[in-house]
Amino acid sequence: MKFAISSKGDGTSNILAQKMRSYLLDFELEYDEDEPDICISVGGDGTLLYAFHRYRGRLDKTAFIGVHTGHLGFYADWVPEEIEKLVIAIAKTPYQVVEYPLLEVIIRHHHGGKETRYLALNECTVKSIEGTLVMDVEIKGQLFETFRGDGLCISTPTGSTAYNKALGGAILHPSLPAIQLTEMASINNRVFRTIGSPLILPDHHTCLLRPVNDVDYQITIDHLTLLHKNVKSIQCRVANEKVRFARFRPFPFWKRVRESFITEND
Ligand code: NAP
Ligand code: MN
Repeated sequence: MKFAISSKGDGTSNILAQKMRSYLLDFELEYDEDEPDICISVGGDGTLLYAFHRYRGRLDKTAFIGVHTGHLGFYADWVPEEIEKLVIAIAKTPYQVVEYPLLEVIIRHHHGGKETRYLALNECTVKSIEGTLVMDVEIKGQLFETFRGDGLCISTPTGSTAYNKALGGAILHPSLPAIQLTEMASINNRVFRTIGSPLILPDHHTCLLRPVNDVDYQITIDHLTLLHKNVKSIQCRVANEKVRFARFRPFPFWKRVRESFITEND
């Protein structure tokens, strides 16, 4: 089996990554940064997001494992004290793979420009560079509302505990192939109206955001921030691809949520 390790880059994470690498090499696993079967992320969720984007071209072949070094590590199952146990598990036991839904984002431009496709593990957010964001929101080809406000967030189930949660969105179990649309400070009065509630869209219900005025947009895909000009539309839906995590022991989603947001103690 071939493995790769992504480190957050701080001292603690680097030492841990180095240790795991030499232990795994001792077990005669092969280090392959380009085509790993498993990628171990050492750091926090940011590190895992980075690793996901590094291997997004081979999501069907690379499974992820998270070790967290002092950060929240919602995606991480292991703590530094457990790495010997983890290394033995990786080397000796067949692991289970759990798959979680992803968000597909296609950005199209005016003037026959290229279209760009992205995959997000957490979410995509759209904000206007200048002034109020004004977007027609279409769902399944029908105009739903004209949004005016600070921005919109479209998240995956596993991303629902990140930015989406801060916006008052629901936490979605990742067995649901769905995406969630949440608002950032919408303008609501006699003249302008949006739904106000987060919307959860099933598989194949495409959400299309169409700019009403011609401004530049700040679009984020997970931790990446992009500037897009001449945007014709931003299309969001559940992706065909999934992210795969290598599981060596059960870690139910609601336990993960409880330990991240309520208490680490049982
Ligand atoms: P960051 O500023 O370190 O992320 C903010 C926090 O979100 C960190 O504590 C991070 O955990 C945590 N986080 C990331 N993904 C999560 C998930 N799926 N469930 C629960 N918590 C999660 O930046 P980053 O590490 O590069 O992460 C980028 C993410 O930050 C974005 O995808 C977005 O979701 C989130 N974000 C949140 C807000 C907000 O809540 N107002 C604003 C902007 C961005 P770690 O400490 O383990 O990294
Ligand atoms: Mn982080």
